[in-house]
Amino acid sequence: MVRQKTKRKTRSRGSKTDAKRPARRSTELALLRKIPGVDEVLRRPALSKLQSRFPRIFAVEATREALGDLREKIGRKKVRAIDLDVLETEILAAAEKAAEPSLVPVVNATGVILHTNLGRAPLSQQALEKLAADGCQYGNLEYDRERGARGKRDVHTDRLLSRLLGSESSLVVNNNAAAVFLTLNTLAEGGEVLVSRGELIEIGGSFRIPDIMAKSGATLCEVGTTNRTRIADFERALSERARLLLRVHPSNFRVVGFTERPTLEELVALGRRKGLPVVEDLGSGCLRDLRPLGISDEPTVSETLRTGVDVVTFSGDKLLGGPQAGIIAGGRATLDRIRKNPLFRALRVDKMTISVLEFTLSAYLREDYSAIPIQRMIHTSLEEIEIRARRVARRLKRIPGLEVELVDGNSVIGGGSTPGRDLPSKLLALNHDRLSAREMAEHLRQQTPPVVARVESDQLLLDLRTVFEDQEDKITAALARIPGKKNAPRGMKKL
Ligand SMILES: *Cc1c(COP(=O)(O)O)cnc(C)c1O
Repeated sequence: MVRQKTKRKTRSRGSKTDAKRPARRSTELALLRKIPGVDEVLRRPALSKLQSRFPRIFAVEATREALGDLREKIGRKKVRAIDLDVLETEILAAAEKAAEPSLVPVVNATGVILHTNLGRAPLSQQALEKLAADGCQYGNLEYDRERGARGKRDVHTDRLLSRLLGSESSLVVNNNAAAVFLTLNTLAEGGEVLVSRGELIEIGGSFRIPDIMAKSGATLCEVGTTNRTRIADFERALSERARLLLRVHPSNFRVVGFTERPTLEELVALGRRKGLPVVEDLGSGCLRDLRPLGISDEPTVSETLRTGVDVVTFSGDKLLGGPQAGIIAGGRATLDRIRKNPLFRALRVDKMTISVLEFTLSAYLREDYSAIPIQRMIHTSLEEIEIRARRVARRLKRIPGLEVELVDGNSVIGGGSTPGRDLPSKLLALNHDRLSAREMAEHLRQQTPPVVARVESDQLLLDLRTVFEDQEDKITAALARIPGKKNAPRGMKKL
């Protein structure tokens, strides 16, 4: 039925067009013939200037695209005459746009400190100064100056990690997913890895313990139940094929209620008795105790290592606040085995990562937390945030149509760390007399720089904990650019 209907419709529309076709086609053809060639367009003065500013390829591509669009518009009868000035303006705009970077700074007003979509930990100016110095020159990345021979690139971070963590040895790879993968592949390929059923986690969509395990060549042996696993369950699950006991930190969720899991000490004792290594994937890698802030379930890396686990793995850009990296730390003999795995070469990091990681670790050693932006954000007091929020609110209140109030709320550490552990904050709650919260959020995302905010129960919420002080003006300016009504009130001009 439906198909028939459609057919008939198409046919009748087709015949109508056919009738008018000859006349239309000739104007179309005439227009198409008038389209200049790419080279001819590029010879126009404004466009030849463009080529002195950008590589020729940008101008050529933009021109090709504009001419293609023009051809298509003529085909759809959207163009009645060819205007080369319009064409030129379009080409200029397209070339400018193509030459602009697409990775740009964003104002994070969400209050999520480790926002994976926004690049997790921002780095400090000092860290980037060191990176600039290390990146634009040759360096002793893998060069042993004493022997004048090849060295190891991880020595630079290892010397700091051993002091900070009390570890015998450490390695740096591309991220924590790589750290877990390399550790499992080295220590358990072809054998079984015992994990509690309650820890078969997924982090951010693509990292799942069972999947990474399968790719590492190890077989997953699930132990206990989702909510309760005891050390006796581990003992019972051991076979000759067992190679490793794995514990995974529940980074981004929490099981509450009737729950139990073996202590790390119990697992270590079992591992010792059976001659099996115990590995903990810590996820976040907390180097500075969060207990003073009331966050008690994020163990520090050093206290985890003190229990006697053989290896811990954690991220460089979560609570550590450094560059994207995965750190593997633990006993020397085990780390030497991991280092010899040919896959280590495939997962190793660049000098830029080593440079920034070394800087970040040395800031921890110096206890200079002002050099680690996320540490600064985590430790910003509620009073300080409130002072800043009041200051911004005063400026925002001058924007016509905007209603501003301060409300209690929470910032989130995020990035798969400290689930449900929020930091109290004072938020700016905005309402607009014409735009919904969603429309305001959209407007903010389109600005330069884009401002990313939170929308909750049709209010736009801004949390200044994750906003740098020099970005406050950018938020005010972005909101002041909300287009006014036809007769924009005078107040708008003042801003
Ligand atoms: C975040 C996380 C990972 C993945 O770390 P990346 O650095 O993002 O690769 C793995 N395991 C746990 C427990 C995590 O929290």
